Amino acid sequence: MRRDYYDKRIEVERVKQVSIFSLKAYGVLDQDSVCTIWWDDNKEDSVRIATDIQAETVRFSYNLIDSDSEEAWEQSSGCWLTTTPCNLGGHRYWFTCLCGRRVGVLYRGNDGFRCRHCYNLTYESRNENHRGVNSGFSRAYRLARRAEKLQSKAKRLFYSGQFTKKYQQIFMLNSQFKQCMETLNRALF
Ligand SMILES: [Zn+2]
Repeated sequence: MRRDYYDKRIEVERVKQVSIFSLKAYGVLDQDSVCTIWWDDNKEDSVRIATDIQAETVRFSYNLIDSDSEEAWEQSSGCWLTTTPCNLGGHRYWFTCLCGRRVGVLYRGNDGFRCRHCYNLTYESRNENHRGVNSGFSRAYRLARRAEKLQSKAKRLFYSGQFTKKYQQIFMLNSQFKQCMETLNRALF
């Protein structure tokens, strides 16, 4: 099978993603705040995320590195946040991509943070070789759903100076989710 969707540049850089679930876990959806997500252990590649809850916007600041000159320049992009009601009460946040789609994950590419449709990462129909990818995504989705459920029930972050059991579980689910996404990124690119 010809892998005509393959983009060498993307393969080298690997696509970096930000999920609404991580933002929720980091607490930046509860109030206007800033967090940084690192994509590598050396803490070289990162995105700084700033939320404005009332304005329902999120701003991403990051460095792009030119693969030829290795020069870095600062980039910034933003998107809208939107909410849908949860069964258990409260609401759940989503990103509204610039294309108008409501999504849970945005990917960093040459046009900033956009959804997988914008970057043509429509893996399902494109490559039967990646059968594992679909189950990987549904696993990631299940992990995110479980964490969201816990999060909606968790009343407090600390108890006796320690993270509550629920939050410890949420953190664990978050790290499993991240691992899952990393494996998927590797499988896809
Ligand atoms: Zn999009």
